[in-house]
This record gives sequence, C-alpha cells and structure tokens, in this order.
Amino acid sequence: MKIPIDIKTGSVSQLTSDNGEVVVGIDLGTTNSLIAIADQEGKPVILGGHKNRNIVPSVIHFFEDGSYIVGNEAKSYLGSQPKATLYSVKRLMGKSYTDLSAETGRLGYTLMPSSEDEGLVKVEVNGVFYSPVELSSYLLKALIKQAEEDLGKTIGKAVITVPAYFNDAQRQATRDAGKLAGLDVLRIVNEPTAASLAYGIGLDKNEKGIVAVYDLGGGTFDISILNIEDGIFEVLATKGDTYLGGDDFDLAIVDYWKIQYQSTFSEIHLQNLHELRWLAEEAKKTLTDKDEFIVDWKGIKLNIDKGQANLLFSSLIERTIQLCHEAVQDAGLTTSAINTVVMVGGSTRVPAVKHAVGQFFNCPIHDEVNPDEVVALGAAIQADILAGNRKDLLLLDVTPLSLGIETLGGLMDVIVPRNTKVPARFGRNYTTSVDGQKNLAITVYQGERDLVKYNRKLGSFILKNLPPMPAGLPKLEVLFILDADGILTVRARELRSDVATEVTIKSAYGISDEEMARLLLDSIKEAQTDMQEKQQIEAKNEVISTIQAVKKFIDLNKPILTAEEVGMLEHYNTLLESSLQSGDKDVMLSIVKQVNDYSMPLAHRAMDNAVVNALTGKKID
Ligand code: ADP
Ligand code: MG
Repeated sequence: MKIPIDIKTGSVSQLTSDNGEVVVGIDLGTTNSLIAIADQEGKPVILGGHKNRNIVPSVIHFFEDGSYIVGNEAKSYLGSQPKATLYSVKRLMGKSYTDLSAETGRLGYTLMPSSEDEGLVKVEVNGVFYSPVELSSYLLKALIKQAEEDLGKTIGKAVITVPAYFNDAQRQATRDAGKLAGLDVLRIVNEPTAASLAYGIGLDKNEKGIVAVYDLGGGTFDISILNIEDGIFEVLATKGDTYLGGDDFDLAIVDYWKIQYQSTFSEIHLQNLHELRWLAEEAKKTLTDKDEFIVDWKGIKLNIDKGQANLLFSSLIERTIQLCHEAVQDAGLTTSAINTVVMVGGSTRVPAVKHAVGQFFNCPIHDEVNPDEVVALGAAIQADILAGNRKDLLLLDVTPLSLGIETLGGLMDVIVPRNTKVPARFGRNYTTSVDGQKNLAITVYQGERDLVKYNRKLGSFILKNLPPMPAGLPKLEVLFILDADGILTVRARELRSDVATEVTIKSAYGISDEEMARLLLDSIKEAQTDMQEKQQIEAKNEVISTIQAVKKFIDLNKPILTAEEVGMLEHYNTLLESSLQSGDKDVMLSIVKQVNDYSMPLAHRAMDNAVVNALTGKKID
C-alpha cells in the first residue's frame, strides 16, 4: 500500500483537498446507500459511526406534516404506510412518467406525470409532489450528516457513483441531487469502476490484467470488463440492465407464494403485498446460509426451500450470464482472457449467483470485501484521486451506444461509435445538398440502427445564417465532445464563413436499459431490412440530386444542346420523378444509370466547349 505524502506540507494526512475541504465517496444505491472516505493511509473506510448503521437503506418516509426520516427508521414504515414510504427512488432518476409505466404497478407509492421539468416523473405523498432529484438529495443529506458527525468536519465535495449503464439524463439527475444536497460533485463514477478500485486492483503500477466486475444489487445489474495496465483502468465494455436485481429475486418468491397459497391469499387485501415482499427478501437472505425458510404471516405458514429458490432464480441469473457473455464479446475477448472477477452488490451473496459466475468465467473470484460496501469504498479512493492524492491514476469509461447525426433522407451517420472511451472528441465534415442553403438543422441521435427513426433522438439545433453558397461548397465541421462523465456537447461550424453554434445535449428524460437492450438487439435483428431501407434512401437521394443536376445542366448548356437532346433530358427527369413515386430502388438506380449514360457524351461536349471558349479568351459562366 502506498502512503501518499503531501509534498507542500510533508504530512501524510490526505483526507482533504487543496482548500481544506473533505472529499467523500458516495454509493447512492437503489436499495442501500453508503458514504466513505480514504483515511490517512489512503485506505477507504465507511463513515457512519455505530456498527450496522453504516448502511443507509435508500428509503424515505414522510409524515403528514411534510417532515421526513431516512434510512432504517423510514424502512420500518414500509409495511404500515407504503404510500408515504419511498424506496427504489434511483429507478426514477432522469425518467418520465411514461418511461416508468412498467413500474407504477410494482411500487407501493404514487407516481405522477408532470407538465414541468420536461415531463419528468414526480412522486406524490400526502398531496405534495416530490421530484426524484429532491428525494435523492434527502438521502444524500442524511449520508452527509452521518459522515459529518463521524468526522467532526463539514463535507463539501463528493464523488457519487452510478451504474455504468446510466445515460446522460440519469447522470445529470444524480449530479443535480448532489448539488441540491449542497455538495460539489467532483465526478460521477461508474460503480463497477469504483468496485475494482476498492479491491486495490491496478493501484500497483506494475499490475496488468483483465478484470470482470459483476455487480448484482437490489435494482440493477452491471457487468464491466476492465483492462488494467500501468496503473490505468480502461473500461473495455459495459453491459447491464437497470431492471434486474435482488428486487426481482424477491418478486419471484412473492409470485411463487401467490401461486402456492392462491386460495388463502385471495382473502387478503392487496395493500399487504408489500409486507409479503419484505418477507420474501428475508427468505432470500436466510436461504443464503440455510436450507429452508418458514414464517407465519397472517395465519398462513409461508415457506420456501433452497432448491425451490434456486429454481426461481435460475432464469434471472441466466439473464445476467447472458449479459456477461455479451460484454466479453463486446470487449473483443473470450472468457479465457479474463484474469479475475470482482463480485459487487448484496445479491452476489446468493450462492447460486456465485456458482453461475464462477462457472461462466472459470477464474478466481474476488468476494472478500463486503459486497454492499465495495462501491462506496472505491468511490472514496476515486475521491482521494480527485483530491489530488493519487495523481498517477487515470480512469477511462466508455459510451454504451453509438452517437451520430441525421443525414440526408433520415440516415444515421455515426460519429462516436459505441464503446468509445471517454473523454473523447470526434469530428466530421459535411456539406450542403441544396444551393444557397442558409440554415442547417443538426439532429443528434443515439443508437445502432442505420435509420435515425429507429434510434433515440437526443436533441437538435440549427446552424443559422450561413452565407449563401452553391450546394457542396460549404465545409461544415461537426464536433462531438464527450466529457469524463459522458455528457455530450455538439459543436457545428461552417469553416469558410466561421459561422458556429453549439449545444450541450441534456436529454429530457432517460432511456431504460430494457430499451437500450432492445435497441441493440433490434440493430442486429433488423440489420437486413435496415440495409434495404438505407439503400432505398440512398437511391432516392441519388435520384433527387440527379434531377437537380439535369436541370442545372440544361440551364447552363442550352446553346450547345439540340432541341431533341433537351427534350430527351426533360423526359428522363419525368422518368426520375415518377421513379421516386414508385420508390423501387432498382428502378430508381436503373434510370439514374440511363441518364448518366445518355448525358455522358453531352457532358463531354459541354466540357470541350468550355475549354475551347476558355482557350479563345471568351468569358464563360
Ligand atoms: P443497490 O446497489 O441496488 O443499492 P445492494 O448492493 O445494497 O443494492 O444490494 C441490495 C440487495 O442485496 C437487496 O436486493 C438485498 O435483498 C440483497 N441482499 C443483501 N444481503 C443478502 C443476502 N445475504 N443474500 C441475498 N441477497 C442479499
Ligand atoms: Mg450498488
């Protein structure tokens, strides 16, 4: 273990940043949240004072007067007052009401659409509306309070972790929650990246290897493949599902009990389903070390044994293994290239999970550090790095989906391919397709499909007041700049006139990981039809530009063309127009070819004529 020394003061105390402020690491979890800090030796420790109270359940309970409590105390109200006791708030971050339609039935509290805040979801408690950002800030405040009491210092700066799959909107929402809680959020860090740091992997400069971080929490699953070399952490690939976690294990048990005890349950009011959910969680935890779970619930003897639980969990675990498979593939590797697996998240305590992961990767598995704490501990190390105490470390992340802009006919032109490391900067030059074009709309999309209509629109802006120039002459440079948090800024500039504009893409609301997975899957499934549609659009674009070229050619070269030739060219243009109506790619391309063949000698004649005119000193236009 390295002991960082402050060169200026010669001290080994590195808890504070340059201006004396404390920098903490926070795991703002779906189920549980923790706060940690690197101690004087650079070793991360969880803050929170008394034993067993370090972990703060991410639960908020509201009293009728609007006051609230957070954590374990709040959790105790889940059974009795589900409508005023909020959990899994992280699932709501950066999402609209419609994004969450699948959630509304599952959550015990009330979600409301909102006309403000770009349609982001609100939670209604006792007639008061709360935004997920606000609610998360309450959780953060509770964590900070706990840590400040422990440290006896004020906390001003933090690193907050998010699942690797969080999109811009979700990351921004997390940042906003930090701000609302009075924090200066130095960095949003991917949870799997933090977890590997907690294992000290890569802290030794000579260490080299490929690590898979398997994180199965309460609400999210993440698998990341990291390449560690020369003290640099590079995320080769990330995969995940924000709708797959321990909660689903609990629900599987609930569903099992519902079927098992159907007749008896029908008499019990639905309100009590939440109690059942928490009993299911207890059952799951118990079965981690015991073979059977039995409890008396409202006179019903609920039970489940390990074999049955494993059976219920198997398809959920299989889904995580499938994602592991895809991540390894995305990284361009096979499992034999993975040197170590790091287990993260409370749900990795389930023996069947460990077993499946061990079998799949077939290499040593790290599970010594408490899987609930490992992310916060790593966040504290990242905080330490950002406080300037470990300057030698650099972290790189990747973009989960490709980013690009819409080009002629609705085609997607990828500028930043998926799995690109951030921070990154990509540029590409374009031109106009119409003479004298004054404005240019730039629409930014995220996704893998050839046609933008199947991808996700992130935003659009207009490059205005271009000086009129013939089509093809303007040089439009489009720059995509991704910062370390994966926030995208798009800049467009016309290089001849230096007209420029830029926009920071902060999408209205998020994309669910289910949708993300669907987008990726569709891009593979629909590749064939996309290709056909793309070819058709390209053919259409060609027909349109040929029509324009023919018109221009006739206008410019009337004097050297016979009436018959002009008639023929006009006839071809009519054919081109009607081929557009038909939309048949082959017909369109065959007519374009006919026009080209026919006009070739005419073009030569026009060129010769221009050259002759030039040679004889005549002015030509
Ligand atoms: P998150 O990152 O989503 O906040 P955590 O990493 O804290 O979640 O994991 C919480 C999940 O871990 C919950 O679903 C909880 O039921 C589960 N869990 C905690 N302890 C155990 C255990 N002993 N056996 C099985 N699951 C557990
Ligand atoms: Mg977690």
